Amino acid sequence: MPSLVAEIGYAIESHLKHIGMIKPEPMTDRQKQFLAEKRREFEAHHGESESNAFPEKAVLCTKCSTKAMVLMDGCMTCLNCGESKCG
Ligand SMILES: [Zn+2]
Repeated sequence: MPSLVAEIGYAIESHLKHIGMIKPEPMTDRQKQFLAEKRREFEAHHGESESNAFPEKAVLCTKCSTKAMVLMDGCMTCLNCGESKCG
């Protein structure tokens, strides 16, 4: 049986790319590491463990249009693209 979930995911992803929601902009390893750390830190503080969902209280990031911005150390930080209001 083919993986329907994977197919749906792929369809959504190509659609988002098509309409410009996802920019095929590769992240550097440093960015990825930074995000992984931020995420671990956030999860440690808030006890959230779903690895593929952003926290419920996350707000929309203006840079990547993902509901993934959380308050960290007094700065709004995007767990998806790494955008930070504090620079
Ligand atoms: Zn973002």
